[in-house]
Amino acid sequence: MTKVLVATEKPFAKVAVDGIKRIIEEAGLEFALLEKYTDKKQLLDAVKDANAIIIRSDQIDAEVLDAAKELKIVVRAGAGYDNVDLAAATAHNVCVMNTPGQNSNAVAELVMGMLVFMYRNLFNGASGSELMGKKLGILAYGNVGRNVARIAKGFGMEIYAYDQFVSAADIEKEGVKAVASRDALFETCDIVSLHIPKTPETVKSINAELLSKMPKGACLINTARQEVIDEEGICKFMAERTDFKYATDIKPANDAEMAKFEGRYFTTPKKMGAQTAEANINAGLAAARQIVDFIKNGNEKFRVNK
Ligand code: NAD
Repeated sequence: MTKVLVATEKPFAKVAVDGIKRIIEEAGLEFALLEKYTDKKQLLDAVKDANAIIIRSDQIDAEVLDAAKELKIVVRAGAGYDNVDLAAATAHNVCVMNTPGQNSNAVAELVMGMLVFMYRNLFNGASGSELMGKKLGILAYGNVGRNVARIAKGFGMEIYAYDQFVSAADIEKEGVKAVASRDALFETCDIVSLHIPKTPETVKSINAELLSKMPKGACLINTARQEVIDEEGICKFMAERTDFKYATDIKPANDAEMAKFEGRYFTTPKKMGAQTAEANINAGLAAARQIVDFIKNGNEKFRVNK
């Protein structure tokens, strides 16, 4: 029987595990669970006879793929998949998928929450300013970016977006203004919210030179990836531009140094954009459905190692 293993060092909520199990078993597949493992050996042992694996931030490297002789598919419940060695998976003839879009609303709501927090002086009681009428720039108009735009419309913001791979026409048909370049987005907008993936091109791409194009009183929000920020650069920049605000849910490596910008710098203690009950459940259930569809129908729609 086809065996589907849920291997999560940090477990899904129980309701998500129950839902995944139901989807797997209703499709006539076998369900197995490895949670809260503390040693890689436990993972290597559990994957031995698995045909499919659902993971979260778990590392699937060449050693795990070598041990998983029967493996056909790995689904990362979530958007980012840099915890899976794609080249090794392709070499092992293993299909890798993510579950795009399932946690996008959660991240987008956090972006808007952080914006209100920053413009109301970290809720210190002092007079702040409103989001209505402010120019919001969305860098990368993917699943999260689109949800930010949808919610920001309700705040009455003027919304701009740039995406290297989404056409201006596609952006504009949703009532969002497309700008011609990434730099133009930073020049135009009071606020930029980052939704780019981590790629060789985007690593450290958000640097002082780019931020210096933003108008007075500007704010940067990062819920994308830590690596896209030039952390040393932003620290120097904030020391010079005392009007600039920065909020993130991805604690910078130089957090202790950034703490000196108290009142206009904020980080959550740990990454939390997708940490909602709803997102946790949605991503897990989507992963189970994608595995069933792959095994029964060969559907590879969400494959990322093409
Ligand atoms: P997505 O794949 O739906 O969208 C990414 C978009 O980026 C695509 O539209 C793509 O065309 C665009 N893009 C790629 N390279 C670009 C570039 N160089 N310049 C401009 N646009 C570019 O992804 P998503 O679900 O919207 O997620 C966006 C980011 O948010 C990812 O980095 C993801 O890891 C991160 N994320 C963070 C959390 C969190 O908890 N903070 C949760 C989920 C996702």
